[in-house]
Amino acid sequence: MTSCIFCKMVSGEIKPKVILENDHILAFHDINPKAPVHALVIPKAHISTLDDLPSDDPELASALFQAVQQVAAALGVSETGYRTVINCRGDSGQEVYHLHLHILGGRTLGWPPG
Ligand code: AMP
Repeated sequence: MTSCIFCKMVSGEIKPKVILENDHILAFHDINPKAPVHALVIPKAHISTLDDLPSDDPELASALFQAVQQVAAALGVSETGYRTVINCRGDSGQEVYHLHLHILGGRTLGWPPG
């Protein structure tokens, strides 16, 4: 899926500020941070939305959440707390249709979200 901006990061065509990478995932700093800490974790495989995450690949879901833990620790928000957000389609405000987990922290976050 060459038109996908996150696939271009996986292929190396676009170079994000990488935090963590392994066989399954890539994690990088969000280009337009909404909090002092704002990172994204993506699967390397192109998966459009959360609903498209394959149910027969529990290892991938596990890899995504393990990466969230590792990125939060690397960015120093494990102790202070952080929020993980997955936007899914229109009403959520999903802009990039390649599954990604937001990691937000470094300040007190309001609830409920807007
Ligand atoms: P969402 O609204 O959940 O689809 O979030 C997409 C996120 O991707 C937004 O927070 C954008 O700031 C972020 N984003 C878009 N392009 C880039 C880029 N080139 N590098 C890093 N983050 C990006």
